[in-house]
Amino acid sequence: MNVYDSGRMAGVLAPLGFAPVDRPDDADMVILNTCHIREKASEKVYSELGRLKKFKARKTQTGTSMVIAVAGCVAQAEGVEILRRQPAVDLIFGPQSYHRLPALLARLAHEGGQVMETDFPAEDKFAALPALTAAKNVTAFLSIQEGCDKFCTFCVVPYTRGAEFSRPVGDVVREARALVHGGVREITLLGQNVNAYRGAPPAGREEEGRWSLARLLGALTQIEGLERLRYTTSHPRDMGEDLIAAHDTLPQLMPSLHLPVQSGSDRILTAMNRQHSAQDYRVLVDAIRTARPDIALSSDFIVGFPGETAQDFDATLKLAAEVGYAQAFSFKYSPRPGTPGAALADQVPETEKNARLAALQELLSAQQHAFNAACTGRILDVLFEKEGRHAGQMVGRSPYLQAVHVTGGPDLAGRVTAVIVESTGANSLKGRLVTQQDWVDVNHSPATIGGAESGLAGLE
Ligand code: SAH
Ligand code: SF4
Repeated sequence: MNVYDSGRMAGVLAPLGFAPVDRPDDADMVILNTCHIREKASEKVYSELGRLKKFKARKTQTGTSMVIAVAGCVAQAEGVEILRRQPAVDLIFGPQSYHRLPALLARLAHEGGQVMETDFPAEDKFAALPALTAAKNVTAFLSIQEGCDKFCTFCVVPYTRGAEFSRPVGDVVREARALVHGGVREITLLGQNVNAYRGAPPAGREEEGRWSLARLLGALTQIEGLERLRYTTSHPRDMGEDLIAAHDTLPQLMPSLHLPVQSGSDRILTAMNRQHSAQDYRVLVDAIRTARPDIALSSDFIVGFPGETAQDFDATLKLAAEVGYAQAFSFKYSPRPGTPGAALADQVPETEKNARLAALQELLSAQQHAFNAACTGRILDVLFEKEGRHAGQMVGRSPYLQAVHVTGGPDLAGRVTAVIVESTGANSLKGRLVTQQDWVDVNHSPATIGGAESGLAGLE
């Protein structure tokens, strides 16, 4: 979401004459768009500010200037502290205030000193943003939902991003059309709880009531030229029947789903206030795989939540082994100021967290390897995005979100092309464009990846 927000900030600043530059030396302003989700992400902000301070000092010496701004959730949560710790910072604004950048810069120019804006404004940020101009890539993010009302006990999001808010259907469709018109072929709908989306219906259809994510996806598939749709991040509680069915009925909806479970222990899930059990999650995964058998599942896990015992952690390993993930993120629990989890008594020692993280990551990376390896010899549709690092190489994504490299020309960019997978690594696949003969040679039957019984079954 920060990537999306940064793009929109560039859009707000363009009419003022700002354009992106590659190096801080050339910048009249540097904006750090920050993440507060774990302590490590927050701490990076301070080290980065220390580095930028030197660029600013050099510019001042040469008679020019540089504005240093901190945006995003660290700015929202720790604005005063940032200004105290780093006086070189000129401007602080939260994730709900960036549409006000021109006004904030004007204030800075008039008043000087340090300017901070971390309110949750009453006006609609998205309505105040300028319309999107040309797209840069063939894939794009589109924020449709922000904030969260779930209050998991480990998480800062409800405090930094605010209450749940869904953008109206009409606005989303308009933005999607503009992206496709600019050359985008794949859109990933974004939200902290994207499947909790409840958007106001399009004009003239008010009697229909608010639209679900499934309904919105269905409408977006009508946009000509939009070849692929994805959405992230979903909460297991909000995975409605219509959304599960959409994975069966909408061909543009790609077979990959990020569905964080966090823990496999009911005791810990309750302490986290996740509002579902491990069994609820298993049943949900079964329903999703019934609708779309080859779906590539990914997840987030937290190890070492306060009170997590060795048995609780074993339950997490067991659940992960049963589900079989194509890819997953795992984190050590990081106590966040102001969240209920941070105040709990029995925090897990760091050494224990490290050991659990290593064990879980070993399992998850073996699953990822197996998932990729099972693609060898298969023909997959790849949406090519850009040239690779090596000359004559192009990179794209498979339906399962794997990076795929082939030898080919730049004319492939923006095209969905069949690729036969020749070899696989931990994070990417290598292949070549298919020939007529490949179609004859390869039995192109629908793939089945994973499965509750096998852990991670083969593709055929
Ligand atoms: N809304 C999504 C997750 C958003 S936060 C959901 O509910 O699933 C992204 C991920 O960061 C979370 O899934 C969680 O695994 C991780 N995370 C959030 N707070 C954390 C914390 N305090 N310590 C460690 N990981 C955390
Ligand atoms: Fe954070 Fe997700 Fe829980 Fe909301 S649902 S509090 S964003 S982890």
